[in-house]
Amino acid sequence: MPDLDGELRFDAASLATAASDFGGLIRQEPAAVLRPGSPEDVATMVRYCRERGLQVAARGQGHSTYGQAQVPSGVVIDLGALDSVEVREDAAVAVVQAGARWSALVRACLGKGLTPPAFTDYLELSVGGTLSAGGLGGQIGRHGTQVANVLELQVVTGEGELTTCSPTARPDLFRAALGGLGQCAIITRAALRLVPAPRSVRFYTLMYPSVAALTAQQERLIREARFDYLIGQVLRTPDGWAYMLEAAAYDATAADDTRLTDDLGALSAEAQDIGYFDFLNRLAPLVKEFEAMGEWQRPHPWYDSLLPASSVHQVVTRTLDGLEAEALGRSAVILLYPVLTAKCTTPLPVMPDGELVYLFSLLKTASEDAHPAEEMVAANRRQYDVTVEAGGRWYPIGSVPLTRDDWARHFGPFWDEFAAARRRYDPDGVLTPGQRIF
Ligand SMILES: Cc1cc2nc3c(=O)[nH]c(=O)nc-3n(C[C@H](O)[C@H](O)[C@H](O)COP(=O)(O)OP(=O)(O)OC[C@H]3O[C@@H](n4cnc5c(N)ncnc54)[C@H](O)[C@@H]3O)c2cc1C
Repeated sequence: MPDLDGELRFDAASLATAASDFGGLIRQEPAAVLRPGSPEDVATMVRYCRERGLQVAARGQGHSTYGQAQVPSGVVIDLGALDSVEVREDAAVAVVQAGARWSALVRACLGKGLTPPAFTDYLELSVGGTLSAGGLGGQIGRHGTQVANVLELQVVTGEGELTTCSPTARPDLFRAALGGLGQCAIITRAALRLVPAPRSVRFYTLMYPSVAALTAQQERLIREARFDYLIGQVLRTPDGWAYMLEAAAYDATAADDTRLTDDLGALSAEAQDIGYFDFLNRLAPLVKEFEAMGEWQRPHPWYDSLLPASSVHQVVTRTLDGLEAEALGRSAVILLYPVLTAKCTTPLPVMPDGELVYLFSLLKTASEDAHPAEEMVAANRRQYDVTVEAGGRWYPIGSVPLTRDDWARHFGPFWDEFAAARRRYDPDGVLTPGQRIF
């Protein structure tokens, strides 16, 4: 065994955890799990595995849904062990190890009056995990994706080299690591841009009668940059579907309501004041509820896509038409919100053509009384084909069986650069087989 600062585990509990994820659909047991004691451990283990023909997968919080962080008979590196956070107040930069959760990072930043500008809607994901995916959220209209706010990365390549990269140092590695699904390097540390934190948030929910009415307002609002945060959801009601716009204005008060929402033609509008951390963390109570229902522990065949503005209406309407409750599960969430591609300044995650696109997500749960998980996965594949036909892309965090050709098509014009980076930085294909790309 190599000399390590951390610990290599072979016990049944560690192996079982590494063989599972939030999706609960795939189960592949590794031979060992490394709890690294340092970034050098990550490099040592990658080199050790490479020499022996073993594969390696980084694991953050295991919130993948289709085995993306698993590796059969290889080594899972549990980055949760590397979770330090340093906030450099004077430079407005956070230097954070990849295993830290966003909840810990934001708490550390708020103590200094600062915050990362862009978040996912759930804070218990690891920094390395969301930077490997892209990190989409309601602040995207103002600040882009999470990967668009990274200044520098420390990574371990598939050759086991511990190095740093940035827009100016080894930019090809930087471009392939951000949103790069762990294919060229394991992120061990990131330097992230910070901005002043708001003290409070005025949070609005507005209801609309149709996809067209919702997206018309979303398009206008994101182009005007009227709000600091903007998303949307499709809700099932006894009378059919309802369309909800959720928007937030930082440091606003009730006195701003007329200016912000009076001309938005909603069927109804509600507003509330909420502290900034509670706003960012507002999924937490819902997660507790889902845990108590047993829904959080059920399989999650999720589907996430990005659609061009020109086809969003047609695809969403066609998808929702006749969509049975059993096809989504009891605790399903359907997201529909706009993304300004000009704010997403990294090549990954791949966006459809056009300056305005929409995230459309079917976050399903295979509840006891719903369709079986395998049926939901098959439906995801059909939805993927509909997405591609409509000029869309998938956001690769979900549960869709894809072929190598699908992947090459998915990356589109970036494929050649991405494949070249893989050959350069992971020539033996050691890293992250669970994504099934190469
Ligand atoms: C409840 C929930 C809410 C979510 N909300 C959002 C959202 O609002 N916006 C959004 O964009 N996404 C969202 N996601 C998706 C999420 O961003 C991705 O699934 C992310 O990869 C999960 O992070 P993790 O730490 O659990 O990663 P893991 O599941 O542990 O790993 C995910 C993938 O990244 C690789 N990986 C992990 N860490 C590293 C690293 N340090 N270096 C290189 N590769 C690594 C793994 O090998 C694996 O392939 C959500 C997921 C869940 C379950």
